[in-house]
Amino acid sequence: MVNWLQKVIAAGSKIKERIRDRATREEIKNSKWMSPCCGNTPILKSSIFNDEQLNTCSNCDKHFPFPPRQRFDHFYGKNKWELIDTPRIPDDPLRWPGDVYKKKLAAARKATDQRCSVLVALGERDGMKITSFAINSAFIGGAISVESAEAILKACDVAIENQTPLIAWSEGGGQIMFESGLSLQGMARTVLGVNEVKKNNLPYINIYTNKCYGGISASFAGVSDIAFAEKSSMIGFAGQSIVRNQTREDLPENFQSSLELIRTGFCDAEFHRKEINDKIMTVLKILLKKDSVSKFEENETSKLSINTQQAS
Ligand SMILES: [Zn+2]
Repeated sequence: MVNWLQKVIAAGSKIKERIRDRATREEIKNSKWMSPCCGNTPILKSSIFNDEQLNTCSNCDKHFPFPPRQRFDHFYGKNKWELIDTPRIPDDPLRWPGDVYKKKLAAARKATDQRCSVLVALGERDGMKITSFAINSAFIGGAISVESAEAILKACDVAIENQTPLIAWSEGGGQIMFESGLSLQGMARTVLGVNEVKKNNLPYINIYTNKCYGGISASFAGVSDIAFAEKSSMIGFAGQSIVRNQTREDLPENFQSSLELIRTGFCDAEFHRKEINDKIMTVLKILLKKDSVSKFEENETSKLSINTQQAS
């Protein structure tokens, strides 16, 4: 009996030692290496997270999250954009016990240097003034709070005031659970906001990036004039495991991938992060009849005349 007990205790202490040997979350975060997105060997973080690779893997093209400030630097040019002040809403409206939400907010603010998950910017690219907003998935998974929805509405106001197109860089899991029904109202409010932009005949382009789910894809991101996606983005409402458990069926190949959304008409095209800015500008110039549009019209006219000649 004693022997048996001693064996169990010895095994228990061995397990404890092993667990202690494993790297802590902090150690993983501070390490120069990360687990591979492709292949079997660990990857040097600096080979992916740099200005040239723009947080994408050169081997498998996986697109890692691109925080809003980096995104704006890449789109408008380094520090060539103005950060727009967005309304401040009192924290923790439902007063969660133990300040659990307040603590989460404080940690997210410290990690991202943002007040909420959305940042709004106004700047110029190719001589065209453009308003854009981006979601940071490092801020509680990019969840949309009342304050985030207000930031999106502010972006719509700025676009209308300055008569600029509006661009949304959408990623994240949807509305924040800690604000329950209050954050759900943000879905309706943001749809009304972007509709005002459209009523002013200003183009509204949404770009699905990384993973985009829940109330984000089901509100402002889903009603854009043009919908692009960054390569290999996952887009849906409920996550794959929820759908699998509900339907009790195997999911089709490419389920919720950007390629599948293009096939079914929910998305217009997907591009690598390195080329998507130019594609956006081409579309904006055509829509707003600027600069290249004359060349575009010329090409279309010459094509037409060739066709007419051939026909005759
Ligand atoms: Zn990879």
